[in-house]
Amino acid sequence: MNSTGAAVTVVGAGLAGCEAALQLARLGHSVRLLEMRPDQTTAAHESGDVAEIVCSNSLKSTVLSTASGLLKKELDLLGCRLLECARSAAVPAGAALAVDKKEFSRLVQLRLQQEPLISLERTHVHDLPFLENHCYLLATGPLTTQALVDRLAELTGKPALHFFDAIAPTVTAESLDTDILFRAARYGKGDSDYWNAPLNAEQYATLYENLISAEKAEVHDFDRADLFDGCQPIEEIAASGPQSMAFGPMRPVGLDDPRTGRRPHAVIQLRQENMEGTLFGLVGFQTRLKFGEQKKVFRQIPGLEKAEFVRYGQMHRNFYLDTPRCLKRDFSLPERPDIFLAGQMTGVEGYVESIASGLMTSWKLGARLKEFTLDPMPATTMMGSLLGRFLFDTTSQRFSPMNANFGLLPDLVPQVRGKKLRKEAKAERAVGAMEKWLDSNTAVFD
Ligand SMILES: Cc1cc2nc3c(=O)[nH]c(=O)nc-3n(C[C@H](O)[C@H](O)[C@H](O)COP(=O)(O)OP(=O)(O)OC[C@H]3O[C@@H](n4cnc5c(N)ncnc54)[C@H](O)[C@@H]3O)c2cc1C
Repeated sequence: MNSTGAAVTVVGAGLAGCEAALQLARLGHSVRLLEMRPDQTTAAHESGDVAEIVCSNSLKSTVLSTASGLLKKELDLLGCRLLECARSAAVPAGAALAVDKKEFSRLVQLRLQQEPLISLERTHVHDLPFLENHCYLLATGPLTTQALVDRLAELTGKPALHFFDAIAPTVTAESLDTDILFRAARYGKGDSDYWNAPLNAEQYATLYENLISAEKAEVHDFDRADLFDGCQPIEEIAASGPQSMAFGPMRPVGLDDPRTGRRPHAVIQLRQENMEGTLFGLVGFQTRLKFGEQKKVFRQIPGLEKAEFVRYGQMHRNFYLDTPRCLKRDFSLPERPDIFLAGQMTGVEGYVESIASGLMTSWKLGARLKEFTLDPMPATTMMGSLLGRFLFDTTSQRFSPMNANFGLLPDLVPQVRGKKLRKEAKAERAVGAMEKWLDSNTAVFD
């Protein structure tokens, strides 16, 4: 036993770190979980809560034939703990799993407390001294402190990479004009869970003009080329073409206005953010406009004239490692096999992807401690293709983070015609492959 008294120190009680700690305990290993907040915080976190969700409260679709739905199904098969908490903290969101962020953190904290093998301590980690019979699992996320980023650069011998990601604003429900907004979920999926602001062509054109002429906040080191594709600020989408928003986050398909019976030119959806239904987030409206400009521009949207902003959009610089060239396939550092990495810092992007990464790395680490080697997860599964194959693909010289998506999965043999049928068939194949993989790797629990 080393001086910490635990087999593993997990650094960072975020999404990946909490899942990893719970999984390591499930595998029978004692864990010291270290989190720097609330004493030291990041540019995006607002509390000292464990597993704090920093932006949108959506963990995306639950439909099996979507990439995120399939990833959730695979995680369920593997016994993911944070998804269980997410379901218990769910708020209405149509076919998506959206959570009350505070309740979600409370449930994760409770799970950690109920686990005798886990101790949670609040401390900022900036060094990783080698200890006998001890491993680290780093899950400090995209906003890892600079001291630790520098230490990792030293250990890998490679400079850290980064990209920029933005947050969408949140408004109070009581400040919305519900005579103008209408309740509906796209294509009627779910129970009309969203508020929707309908815009006609003229109102849309005004919003477009306002967005492209509004003043943006200065962001240190910002380069447009470093924006993450899946999370472009709304003003950047607008700048790419007058109708880009109407074909992107403001697409009106499946959202007919019940008062006119017609499809509006464009729609802004607002998704419930807490259990009480008092807070709503503007879906797809992540932005780096100056706060005053956000208030001015977004209050010109019909139905949001009196919107009360409890949080404005912001942009942040996200750190990640050049995983294909820095990590071994078990997510440990070649130069320090006692250090494993998980979460967004390994080049996955998204809440559920970060949770999946926490689970995957903890199983690899847990297996190593038991001197057992897990089989590689099949590339036909979403986890195998993203965390096993994509993260270690050296084809591109400039490695960039990735969400779960069907493009990662190998083609079906024989081919299936039709996009929907193809996705369903790939999802079915993935579930079968994951069940089989699990059957052959249960020794990790012995
Ligand atoms: C601004 C922003 C907006 C985002 N919006 C979305 C979104 O809408 N949807 C989505 O799916 N994904 C989003 N992401 C991406 C990603 O899914 C989240 O960042 C996710 O929380 C990553 O999980 P993680 O466990 O890797 O990191 P985190 O959840 O950030 O956890 C890392 C933890 O480590 C702690 N920590 C950091 N450094 C240290 C240190 N040196 N010592 C001790 N503790 C430390 C932090 O305080 C934190 O608690 C966003 C990211 C950012 C930065």
